[in-house]
Amino acid sequence: MPICPLCQDSRPSRFLTDKKRSYFRCPRCQLVFADLHSQLPPQAQQQRFNKLNPARQKQLSLFINVLIEQLAGITSGPLEGLNFGGLLPDSVVTLLQQQGYSLSQYDPFLAPDHTVLRHSYDFVCSYRVFEHFNYPLREWALLCRTLKPGGFLAISTRLLTDPQQFAKWHYKNNPAHVSFYCQETFEYLAAHHGFTLLFAANDLILMQKAAESDITRTP
Ligand SMILES: [Zn+2]
Repeated sequence: MPICPLCQDSRPSRFLTDKKRSYFRCPRCQLVFADLHSQLPPQAQQQRFNKLNPARQKQLSLFINVLIEQLAGITSGPLEGLNFGGLLPDSVVTLLQQQGYSLSQYDPFLAPDHTVLRHSYDFVCSYRVFEHFNYPLREWALLCRTLKPGGFLAISTRLLTDPQQFAKWHYKNNPAHVSFYCQETFEYLAAHHGFTLLFAANDLILMQKAAESDITRTP
């Protein structure tokens, strides 16, 4: 059996095998993940994402605008943010700048500028990206490092709300989707990495990094 790619627990059990893949579930963080051996090769993933998708950009733009509106209600002053995964057009970034927000962008295929990952930000958003992580612990650690103490992490991914319905869940049938999270998964991450889980519902998870320390505890 594989170890959990998020919390490294050694006890995941087989959860489901369908026509295409096997899935495992971790008893500790409740992550459901697809068998690594049945995942898309990197080249196929790149072909899938190596193009701008206007519909997705529009959704991402909406997501960031709603997020900024919410953050403006609970914080003050100009905010520096990072968009992790996906790419907004320059025109949207300029509009945000005019409102006093700066937004850096990183995407492994569309904007692979690693220098932006060396800075730390007041907020980091990740729209429909977490489900693509083969090694979510690695990406999680990276995102933790890019957040300032007290910073906000906003994630959009569909939550697995009823594990009994997983076999019928259309979200798992996309071969590029490999990691599936429950609310309990984010509760686990918050508790073990010094975050407060502010909100966790379908398509929006909002967490705040502890202000007093940016040291993350080992899982
Ligand atoms: Zn786990």
